[in-house]
Amino acid sequence: AKAEGRGTYRVFESQMGAQVRDRRLLEHDLRSALVSRQLSLVYQPQVDLETGEVSGFEALVRWNHPERGAVPPSTFIPIAEETGLILQLGEWVMRTACTQAAGWTAPLMIAVNVSAVQLHAPNFVAFVEKLLVETGLAAERLEIEITETAMIRNMNRALANLRQIKALGIRVAMDDFGTGYSSLSNLRAFPFDRIKVDQSFIRSVHDNDQSAAIVRAVLGLGKGLNLPILAEGVERLEELDFLKDEICDAAQGYWFSRPEDISAFEDVVRGTSKT
Ligand code: C2E
Ligand code: CA
Ligand code: CA
Ligand code: CA
Repeated sequence: AKAEGRGTYRVFESQMGAQVRDRRLLEHDLRSALVSRQLSLVYQPQVDLETGEVSGFEALVRWNHPERGAVPPSTFIPIAEETGLILQLGEWVMRTACTQAAGWTAPLMIAVNVSAVQLHAPNFVAFVEKLLVETGLAAERLEIEITETAMIRNMNRALANLRQIKALGIRVAMDDFGTGYSSLSNLRAFPFDRIKVDQSFIRSVHDNDQSAAIVRAVLGLGKGLNLPILAEGVERLEELDFLKDEICDAAQGYWFSRPEDISAFEDVVRGTSKT
């Protein structure tokens, strides 16, 4: 049994080694991805539940690796954050999304994910400010999505940067609300413009009493604090019906559309779609 145990340990150890090597390879490849057009953005519509119309899009990054094919953001974003590559990647995402949105005929919102590392970078606000001038995108059309975890790393720096971002007229959404280091005091401490309820609460909200209670409570909180609520990850009509009954402000999810290349939404961004 002892020998078997050691053998098992050795297998485990070599798997760990393989994982570490794989991570290094990905890190290396990510550096070249940044300069060789392997990254792209897809866009997912955000829908105003009162009017039923698309109010904007969330930009989501995609990596098409030359050998591996599509590498999911859940794999490469953490690597980018740990290595600092997220700064370059984040600037690319922000520039690409703002340039894209500036070209739309319809004045829709563009939501961009910003990671903790970016938010804490000293030049973040100056970069965004300059980008708005360069692209001609109105600040009011840009929304940055930040998780609570991003805020608490260095509260003072994060708060200072957020205040400056808001002073430019840019909107700020709290992403993945209800997960991670959630604390209600964050809602009071930080100047968010809206809350995105994490998809884990929306999933099967129509037949899960606990999820329903939590979503109702968050919607009540939103009303009390005058903060609009967007429900993430709506996949089914039953979930949408629940949210409409409970007067949720906005929603996003596969029920409406998967994230797609912007060409899929040409009618919407040209303002000629009939919804
Ligand atoms: P997120 O910001 O919470 O984005 C929502 C994720 O849920 C996206 O996954 C989206 O494709 C997926 N999704 C949307 N609707 C549905 C639905 O109805 N059902 C299900 N099952 N999933 C849905 P994605 O694109 O794989 O991104 C994962 C995460 O990676 C994002 O979570 C975000 O944290 C991060 N990420 C993606 N793009 C960027 C980026 O440009 N910058 C940064 N910093 N992070 C990004
Ligand atoms: Ca997001
Ligand atoms: Ca989210
Ligand atoms: Ca998430």
